[in-house]
Amino acid sequence: SMLPLFLRGKVIKGFGRGSKDLGCPTANLPTESYEATIKDIPIGVFFGWANVKGIDSESVIHKMVMSVGWNPFYKNEKKTLEIHILNRYDRDFYGEQVNAIATGFIRPMCDFKSLEGLIKAINDDISYASEQLDTAEQQLFKSHQFFSHCC
Ligand code: ADP
Ligand code: MG
Repeated sequence: SMLPLFLRGKVIKGFGRGSKDLGCPTANLPTESYEATIKDIPIGVFFGWANVKGIDSESVIHKMVMSVGWNPFYKNEKKTLEIHILNRYDRDFYGEQVNAIATGFIRPMCDFKSLEGLIKAINDDISYASEQLDTAEQQLFKSHQFFSHCC
């Protein structure tokens, strides 16, 4: 199947659509090198693991929730990858390399009628992801060699 998805990329600026204001900053990754890989994955919300190189200690792999959407800048012909890491950082890390594995699918993308609806969905995604990632099967990915053979 399409998962797991192994992703490495240096964090780029997003569209500043206020995810930080919602308490949910998303580190945007470039998709250029993944276009073939992500072409067929549905837009929606995924979960998995992530490490920010040089910021997180090498052995600490965090839970993450990833959103795959359409990039309005490219007339919605290209996708965007945004990763919210379930960890509190004391500063931004634009330009730093994120290594991540998307291991599970949560739901397709949808439009929300209200900000409250969106915030509730984000919180539900995070708690669902966190529960799934606590399972033994998911925990195995934390010690995947992908995270230790980093470039
Ligand atoms: P942008 O539109 O530029 O992506 P965001 O509001 O989504 O702006 O904020 C994303 C930035 O916040 C990331 O690029 C990263 O530098 C920083 N950041 C801080 N904490 C986190 C976190 N826990 N997960 C993801 N990004 C974070
Ligand atoms: Mg973002």
